[in-house]
Amino acid sequence: MSQVVTRFAPSPTGFLHIGGARTALFSWLMARQAKGRFLLRIEDTDRERSTDQAIEAILASMRWLGLNWDGEAVYQSRRIERHNQAVDELVRKGRAYWCECPPEEVQAMRDRARQRGLKPKYDGTCREKGLGPGPGRAVRLKTPLSGSTSYQDLVKGPIVVDNQELDDMVLRRSDGTPTYNLAVVVDDHDMGVSHVLRGDDHVNNTPRQITIYRAMGWPEPAFGHVPMILGPDKKKLSKRHGALSVMEYERLGYLPEALVNYLARLGWSCGDKEIFSRQELVELFSVDNLGSSAAVFDLKKLDWLNSQYIQAGDQARLAGLLAEFVNRRTPGAGRAEDLARVVPLLKPRAKTMVEMADKAGFFVADARSLAYDQKAVDRFLDPQAKALIREFAAALEEAAGFSRQALEQAAKSFLDRRGLKFKALAQPVRVAISGAAESPGLFETMEALGRDQTLGRLKRAADL
Ligand code: GLU
Repeated sequence: MSQVVTRFAPSPTGFLHIGGARTALFSWLMARQAKGRFLLRIEDTDRERSTDQAIEAILASMRWLGLNWDGEAVYQSRRIERHNQAVDELVRKGRAYWCECPPEEVQAMRDRARQRGLKPKYDGTCREKGLGPGPGRAVRLKTPLSGSTSYQDLVKGPIVVDNQELDDMVLRRSDGTPTYNLAVVVDDHDMGVSHVLRGDDHVNNTPRQITIYRAMGWPEPAFGHVPMILGPDKKKLSKRHGALSVMEYERLGYLPEALVNYLARLGWSCGDKEIFSRQELVELFSVDNLGSSAAVFDLKKLDWLNSQYIQAGDQARLAGLLAEFVNRRTPGAGRAEDLARVVPLLKPRAKTMVEMADKAGFFVADARSLAYDQKAVDRFLDPQAKALIREFAAALEEAAGFSRQALEQAAKSFLDRRGLKFKALAQPVRVAISGAAESPGLFETMEALGRDQTLGRLKRAADL
């Protein structure tokens, strides 16, 4: 088989949303699995609605997700001349024609057809007039008048459209600009695309695009249309359901591999397996297992996957990321070297990096600036508890080491000497060192904080 070439062709009229990211991922997987090429084309011909900011955001999202593309991104707007060449070629071959019908006239034809219960379409007035170029003239495709156009959709199966239903579509508008379907066909052809995977909002364009391929005498690629993502209420996915742009998920503290895993599983399955490394996805992905019905977005599942990836995550990388998230709130407060000590404690407790940064707040605070939760103070730091904390701090000054085990030993002998139970010390010390009634394991936390911070905090709490 010749080389597999797929592409992602976003219109930069907004940020990259997860629906688009999922189609991009499927195209990427298909290319990587076949050791083919994955291309990126920015469909920026709608100059009014396309923005540089959206282009940047799309590129940043693709990079963050690790969906690397081969070669330079192609900008559709820079290819208008080439699109027009193709239109001219179709006219030369007699497969397209100039049309002088003004838009109001075309609208009236459509209305008349609709009134007669027919598909609204252009009636072919100029089809055989043999007009040449001229002001106000558009170019239309000579769509076959009989027969049907069919193809085997990679996801939806066989699709057949009666050619009677297809319009003599405009290929070049009267202002000289090529139309969307024409541009897509010329670009996909020139880029050597072998498989077009895209959202099923484009399924109606495909038979039209196929008629252009056939008129040009070009082989057509295989097409697959991926169903939409729906919200839990089975309505089109929107912000209301928690659907955000890809970079918003980054800001919320999701790991790219968790989002990739999540998106891959949304509408694609491989037995009961839920967690897939990138390598496994590349090996196991198959268009044959893409579901043909809409997938339902489930934020809880994304959270679950993200927590799994955090738990399994590399320590140093997570410490670097955690420092970034801490610094986003308090610039300069997070240092990866320090945070590396607290990452193992927080890993099992955080669904997102934002949550981890929340929980790391006490750790990055200075002994003098640590904020205390007043409720926890009222409940656990009565005068008696404070006296005990002061004595415990003094005992720790003498402690041989500051490892978890040494601390546990020190606490045990401290309590034994006084005939007290661990309970008497645990919550007061926890509040003293973390500012709150909840924290990771006491001795691990003390170890991670280190001697100076721990003792400083115990003394400050004793003085509260
Ligand atoms: N630019 C189109 C979109 O963003 C995609 C076109 C295609 O994939 O063929 O919806």
